[in-house]
Amino acid sequence: MSETVTSLPCAQDIARWAEDIIAGRSLSSPQARSLLDLEPGSEAVAALYAAAQQVRDHFLGNTVHFCSILNAKAGNCSENCSYCSQAAGSTNVDYSKTKWLDAEDIVDAARSAAENGAKALGLVAAWKGVKAGAQLDMICESIRQLVAQGNIRPDVNLGILESQEVANRLQQAGAAVYGHNLETARSFFDQTCSSHSFEERWETIQYIKNSGMGLCSGGIIGMGESKDQRVEFAEQLRFIEPQMIPINFLNPLEGTGYEDRQPVDTDEALITLAMLRLFLPERNIMVAGGKEVTFGERLHEVFAAGVNAVMVGNYLTTLGTDPDYWHKQVANYGLELAGAAGTGCGRGNK
Ligand code: SF4
Repeated sequence: MSETVTSLPCAQDIARWAEDIIAGRSLSSPQARSLLDLEPGSEAVAALYAAAQQVRDHFLGNTVHFCSILNAKAGNCSENCSYCSQAAGSTNVDYSKTKWLDAEDIVDAARSAAENGAKALGLVAAWKGVKAGAQLDMICESIRQLVAQGNIRPDVNLGILESQEVANRLQQAGAAVYGHNLETARSFFDQTCSSHSFEERWETIQYIKNSGMGLCSGGIIGMGESKDQRVEFAEQLRFIEPQMIPINFLNPLEGTGYEDRQPVDTDEALITLAMLRLFLPERNIMVAGGKEVTFGERLHEVFAAGVNAVMVGNYLTTLGTDPDYWHKQVANYGLELAGAAGTGCGRGNK
């Protein structure tokens, strides 16, 4: 669909776009951008949510994936990501700093995540990136232990990869999916972090894809990026084709570089999710960090906006929603919990 959009789409336009997507034609960037200006509560927004569900059901069925993450090495990161409580310069002290966790703690966390319905557990480390040598050997050993335990799929989320060889070693140890977010649009990235570049993230994603591991990559909405930049971010995601796209919403934690920013408006966040669903119809889209702050009592409406995956359990440094809530909402929306997921977990808003 290369149609130029000069005015806001009406409900009929959006219904037609959904039919076009189902027929195999992609939503254009101008069309995606026009959706972000729709008036909350309007007929067009009701049509957008209907279209998002129709497209999700067509491409992905009615199943929902649950993923969990474990902060396997917390705090004291060298990087200066403005949204992150573990960043260099953050004065947030609302979590415990740890070295890479003992095998026993990792195995316990995997058991508990599996009991909550998660099919995958992402082992996340707060550092710039995993280093070849003793550190990589230690992580590969943790992955092998989770593979041997057999009740959950081990994913990793270990930051910037320095070489193809490191990616290949992780894949050979049994890591099924590597989570590495783009975080935001390329044109906005340097306003969120100056200690590493968007290009380093982009290169890491190429190593992940070349290794044969699945790719989990998304980002954070609400850091100050413009609506144009949200569409630019969606275009980048369309290009890299992740199996799972975790969408975080800025949770402006005290002591972080973004502590003074406001959380995204709930309707704006739902419309953004629905736009992503239409723009990326075949991708798993997961709501992750910051969702409790952004959606409050309307959290379940993420399913109305076309989402098909949820991060359950706690985040890296903040508490999440009780998994029972998600089990109930999946049933309320006529959805089903997926079996063994071909998906992953993301590194993002902490
Ligand atoms: S987002 Fe990751 S890389 Fe950035 S400061 Fe936090 S832990 Fe470090």
